[in-house]
Amino acid sequence: MKFHSVLFSALVGCAALLSGAVQAQATRPAATTGKFAQVSPVTIPTAPAGRTPAEQAQPGQVQPGQVQPGQVQPVAPGTLPAPRLPRLTLNPAIQEVQKIEYLGNGHIEVAGAVLTLMPGDYARARALAGYVARRVLAAREQLDEVDISVYDKGSYAGFGGPLPLLTASVPRDRLDDFLEWSAGKGSYERAWISTMPGAAPTRVPDRVRELTVNFLGNLADKAADAVHHTTAKVLGGVQGGLLYHGSARSALSALTFDDAPHPMYEPLVLDILRRENVHATFFVIGRNARAYPYFVKDMVDQGHEVGNHTYHHVRLPPLPIADAVQELMTASQVIQGITGKPVRYFRPPGGDYTPATLRAAESLGLTTVFWTDDPGDFQNPGVRVLIERYTRTLRRGGIVLLHDNAPEMLQVLPTLLRLAQAHRIELDTVSELVGQPEAGKPGGDRPVIVSANLTRRTVRPSPRLVPVEVTLP
Ligand SMILES: [Zn+2]
Repeated sequence: MKFHSVLFSALVGCAALLSGAVQAQATRPAATTGKFAQVSPVTIPTAPAGRTPAEQAQPGQVQPGQVQPGQVQPVAPGTLPAPRLPRLTLNPAIQEVQKIEYLGNGHIEVAGAVLTLMPGDYARARALAGYVARRVLAAREQLDEVDISVYDKGSYAGFGGPLPLLTASVPRDRLDDFLEWSAGKGSYERAWISTMPGAAPTRVPDRVRELTVNFLGNLADKAADAVHHTTAKVLGGVQGGLLYHGSARSALSALTFDDAPHPMYEPLVLDILRRENVHATFFVIGRNARAYPYFVKDMVDQGHEVGNHTYHHVRLPPLPIADAVQELMTASQVIQGITGKPVRYFRPPGGDYTPATLRAAESLGLTTVFWTDDPGDFQNPGVRVLIERYTRTLRRGGIVLLHDNAPEMLQVLPTLLRLAQAHRIELDTVSELVGQPEAGKPGGDRPVIVSANLTRRTVRPSPRLVPVEVTLP
């Protein structure tokens, strides 16, 4: 087998998290030093040869259902624990602050702050959000943005539980605007206030991520689906409401992100895509799109496409068909309400579908989209394994599946984008892959609209970015 080397930039901050090297510094009080934390150069772990992802799982792996409050949802069996993210401690502390995590992508740094309030204090949510944003940005001068999520204290169950009461994205250069809004003056478009404070979700999200396509049904369904399924797989393109891949004659491959948007990862992922001038399709969870609409707006403003990943992130096959339709319909309504565009594509949570869910999606104008390349970023297999898996299945006309809130995805994303370039594969949206560009977007030369939260700030190079030599198969 021939080997070649690729020189790429890896994010030392993220990689150090994997080794735990940065954690001691991350938990120190946030009195600023004016510099990024000094961390050791990244060491890429070697993948055990010839072992399956399941075999690579180590003792201590996350068990199904074992989800900590605030942990990104959802978690599949066989998944290694995600690295603990660095936390910021405010001094003096603010009692409503549950946690403040932060993460960098080698160019910008973003913090996610979770606050909780008792029902009698809901009226303080805006003022408190302003105060916390100011304190967080003052405590760590490297931060380019802080994203605030205020929850009801009694019902807070992490990301995926009851909706927050208030959310806001506060880039450093918009702090004054946000403070004015939090004081009850002016307007601020990167904030959201719930009209149903403390409302519990009507359905519990399935803690599963997308790894394999799973057709579920009776024997007759399976026999009928075999033809349908095989036709879609062999021919490619949209076949009877299914999309497995595009044309291998095309130079395009679709780049897709599931489980978006997330308050902290989203600005980091969008920043990398903007720098690399790559467009993608984000399959968003309707509930999260509702609570963080400005991130969905950012996606559209940067030329990305927004697809449907159900409202609560639930597998549709176990649901009565009316409920499955409701999940799809509510998510599409939320998305269209933000983007102003009809939703065209659906990615089934867990990859699970039946003829009935396929028909339900079709009845709402949705094509069910699968994938050809899933490196399993949510399993935290290590960056070398991720790159190897990705490289093995990357192909023209393919569909790459990543998850937008997987730490290792963020760490290797620039490398994955450059590897596609090296293989002369242009990554783009699903619409572009199937030759049906969205209205107003002729394929190939769409203008890149820079996100509003990054246009007024000069981004400095980060000392966390160091070149690393990696040997790829
Ligand atoms: Zn998902």
